[in-house]
Amino acid sequence: MEYDVAILGGGAAGLMAAARLNERGGLSVCVVEGNAKPGAKIRISGGGKCNLTNVTVSEHNYLGDATLVRSVLKRFDDSALLNWVRARGCEPVVRKARYYFCPRSAEELIDILLKSAEGVRFFLGHKIETVRQKENGFFVTTDKTTLKARNVIVATGGVSYASVGATDIGLKIAESFGIETVPFRPALAGMTLQKEQFWMKDLSGISFPVTIHVGEKRLREDMLFAHRGISGPAVLSASLYWEKGTVTIDFLDGRSVEAVLKRGGNKKIATAIPLPKRFITAFLDALGVEDKPCSAVTAEEKVMLKTLNAYTFAPAGTFGFTKAEVSKGGVACNALQPYSCESRGVRGLYFVGEVVDVTGELGGYNFQWAFASGRCAADHIGAV
Ligand SMILES: Cc1cc2nc3c(=O)[nH]c(=O)nc-3n(C[C@H](O)[C@H](O)[C@H](O)COP(=O)(O)OP(=O)(O)OC[C@H]3O[C@@H](n4cnc5c(N)ncnc54)[C@H](O)[C@@H]3O)c2cc1C
Repeated sequence: MEYDVAILGGGAAGLMAAARLNERGGLSVCVVEGNAKPGAKIRISGGGKCNLTNVTVSEHNYLGDATLVRSVLKRFDDSALLNWVRARGCEPVVRKARYYFCPRSAEELIDILLKSAEGVRFFLGHKIETVRQKENGFFVTTDKTTLKARNVIVATGGVSYASVGATDIGLKIAESFGIETVPFRPALAGMTLQKEQFWMKDLSGISFPVTIHVGEKRLREDMLFAHRGISGPAVLSASLYWEKGTVTIDFLDGRSVEAVLKRGGNKKIATAIPLPKRFITAFLDALGVEDKPCSAVTAEEKVMLKTLNAYTFAPAGTFGFTKAEVSKGGVACNALQPYSCESRGVRGLYFVGEVVDVTGELGGYNFQWAFASGRCAADHIGAV
């Protein structure tokens, strides 16, 4: 059978495109998915409750071409997404002050997407191998069959978490059409440390709010010390903007160490500084500063202690693709039309979701992008 639209990948972006095309009606649509069940990453996301969007969303929360991101988000923004979900019986709840989650479970969202895509044919357990174009359409070959389609939406995601079916087929498809791509790299991942920072490894389990500066970005969130290095929301988002080079952490999250020491008087440093004692003790050890009354701190020690407000170091790397929530890189933004995510060079071929070189910070931004871009491509196909 020939389809008007073949959607490759039954994840967030692909399911939203399928739902939209189905609800608009009039076109034959299929989804080709390698797993036996669609929506694998939605199911495991946000601790099983899927953090689907955020109370504030803009192009500034993304690494990627701002024009493309703005254009796509404008077509299906956070309010539109929330309204779409609410109209289908699910009332997302705000947690941690900023993040929207499903009230009970991510399955609620998967059910909504699948119900909205009821008229769509699903080819499950089909591993996509190639997409070729001939005069009369596209041919999608899987390990089991070949399908013909007038339009193809590539929504095969990134390569993080290969354990749930992630592959780089989207980049291979783009490259087979001569479309520019940027290699995938792990993002929203913890960071590993060089030996000068190994003192942090003994702090596994401690978490507190910090501000991390990386390049032009300033990220205020919790940081978690982990066995392998550093993690937690602030570090995960910092990994998005970090390639190589240094990051700077304000462990006191804006409170001046000088003012804290001044107020401390005869209290010992580790008592006066409002951070977990285990952390301060390890920090003082690493600096070689004795824990003494604040009033006895020398000028030289003060300079060293000031690094609590601006601790600059070069991470060794990230925890890698097995732990990264997303992959940065993908199909180059400038290869796509900003109003549709259609390839500029190949009419009828669209790229949406994580396979595109657009990656969001932690906090629902990646699902927001996946849903908005899937919807954007579907609307364009439905309209032409
Ligand atoms: C543990 C974890 C937690 C996360 N939590 C959040 C969160 O709370 N909020 C947030 O915004 N983001 C979160 N993310 C990121 C988010 O899941 C992704 O950015 C999002 O799923 C991308 O949507 P997508 O449709 O582009 O790709 P995916 O959802 O990954 O879908 C791609 C689909 O393509 C299929 N596929 C790939 N290759 C092939 C092939 N060769 N043949 C057939 N099918 C194939 C895959 O099986 C998959 O179903 C999380 C990610 C992880 C790993």
